[in-house]
Amino acid sequence: MATAYVGIGSNLGEPRRQIEAALDELGRVPRTCVARRSSLYRSAPVGHTDQPHFLNAVARLETGLAAEALLAELQDIERRHGRERSFANAPRTLDLDLLLYDGCVLDTTPLTLPHPRMHERAFVLAPLAEIAHDAQVPGHGRADELLARCAGQHLARIA
Ligand code: ADP
Ligand code: MG
Repeated sequence: MATAYVGIGSNLGEPRRQIEAALDELGRVPRTCVARRSSLYRSAPVGHTDQPHFLNAVARLETGLAAEALLAELQDIERRHGRERSFANAPRTLDLDLLLYDGCVLDTTPLTLPHPRMHERAFVLAPLAEIAHDAQVPGHGRADELLARCAGQHLARIA
């Protein structure tokens, strides 16, 4: 079994419900269980800022799936939530990112590990550090130390 961390984000169509539904669906992925989940966090949109705020969370999975197979399952769940890939940083009903998969470092077309932008995003690092403060982001450092460098990013823990 591998330990994987998944970042969950939503800013359209009842984000809280989308995230809770996604957590249920993650628990139904073959050979996979949700071992831990973070609180919900409210964050300001990045890049394209004229859109609703996001809700974010992180889940720790224990999985018998390979990383690529797990990513395909995450994309299936996104699709079932009606996500359309319009443009980078566009609003989305559900975004599921594979943040970490054990200590894997990978750079292929479908999958980069660790997730290439996670180390500079408070909305990923805060929920990750909540459930695994000493999680290592390969090539970058510990989740809680990386979070300390994101001081300018506004984030509110809401539940
Ligand atoms: P972002 O989450 O950064 O806003 P998208 O979700 O739109 O971007 O990007 C999805 C694309 O990123 C997919 O084509 C997917 O194959 C690729 N990708 C590469 N590495 C990862 C990863 N670790 N987790 C999720 N998607 C990834
Ligand atoms: Mg994504």
